[in-house]
Amino acid sequence: MNKKSTIFFLEPYVHISIGKAEILLWNTLNKKYVNIENDTYFSERIKKIRSKKNCGVIELDQSILLGKGNKKTLNEIRAKYIGDIIENLKGQKPVSIYPIAKLKTDFVVNKESDSPEGKKIVHLLNEITLHLNYYADDKIREGHKQFIYSIADKSTHEAVFGQISKLISDSKNSYLYNCNVMGGNILQYKSLNNLLPVLREHDFLKSFYFHFENFNFGLFENHFHKYYEDDKFNFNVFCFPSAIDGTKYQEILAFNEKHDIKLNIVFLVQSPGDLKKVTESISNNAFEIKPYYNGNNIGFFRKYVFPSEKEILKDENDTSMKDIFAKEAFNILHFGKIYVTPHGEVYSSFHEESIGNIRDSTLQELIYNAIFKRDIWLMRRNKVKPCKDCVYNFLCPPVHDYEFVMKRHNLCNVIF
Ligand code: SF4
Repeated sequence: MNKKSTIFFLEPYVHISIGKAEILLWNTLNKKYVNIENDTYFSERIKKIRSKKNCGVIELDQSILLGKGNKKTLNEIRAKYIGDIIENLKGQKPVSIYPIAKLKTDFVVNKESDSPEGKKIVHLLNEITLHLNYYADDKIREGHKQFIYSIADKSTHEAVFGQISKLISDSKNSYLYNCNVMGGNILQYKSLNNLLPVLREHDFLKSFYFHFENFNFGLFENHFHKYYEDDKFNFNVFCFPSAIDGTKYQEILAFNEKHDIKLNIVFLVQSPGDLKKVTESISNNAFEIKPYYNGNNIGFFRKYVFPSEKEILKDENDTSMKDIFAKEAFNILHFGKIYVTPHGEVYSSFHEESIGNIRDSTLQELIYNAIFKRDIWLMRRNKVKPCKDCVYNFLCPPVHDYEFVMKRHNLCNVIF
């Protein structure tokens, strides 16, 4: 290094994303960013900064730096608090610590040393979705392959209470955070009165899902009135926007108010008209919108669901360095989640093969299979095409179920 040199560094809160055509420098604090074309003076410097041996700093060549394009890039980087330069008068190379994600050791599961019998592996479980029965109505075909939704099937088979109760009890050594309970009509599930006290014994959230069409106020009250005050019990009703004009919808709102139970309404929307109806009609009620892909409404998704480059980079994108580290390590949407059908088959994703059946597999075996024999828990956006070459891969949501249904990973309006 020369006696006097100009040292360039990037701030530790800046996300560096190297794509096929460009590099993105994203300031996670003020959400400002700079795009740098690949194969330019600066892109090469930035790649070198990331190399361990450079300790987060790189020397800049003064004469090249004076060139018009480079000066402009440097000024932009400095103005957005993304990086800076210092004059190094002493000739000693400074160090800038750039954070690198490191997983806590008790989280890491090693394929060789952790057998399916290992207790530690159940720590990875954080959500169970129990399907108690099937939904004979098939207005929403394979909705369960797009989001949390009932499995449409004419079968009258029900989940075996003893098996699901064992699964719940085996999860006591995990960090289970939430248990979704759903079906075609869970109020008709024969063992519901046995299941509810079992669920109550545990500290995790219990999220129950009903269908507007077959929601029965009397049965609901009979089964759940004891749990209205329990803040670990929450209730959701799937509803089509067309129901908003009917009297039953008003009855649900009145029931909600009378019992103060905050029934969350989950609207299944498929078109701009659906969306308009929901957004115009909803006042103070708790609600959620689930866009449903019916095979013919890609235009709706393109316009209302897929983000544009501008939306990904907007100030409201609250992706932090911590989020980025988590996204680099695993699929934060799917990790730790399992789904159990009324027949006891367990999936880490309905787009992959089953990981076992609760009838004859232990929880440890199921989790072992999910992490080592299936892909979804560790399927990160930088591992799928074309997102792996896109600079926005860790600013976008993790790989999710719609992508498998639509058979493409780039559910966005970004062209690169
Ligand atoms: S979905 Fe993929 S291609 Fe689209 S912006 Fe995100 S990472 Fe890029």
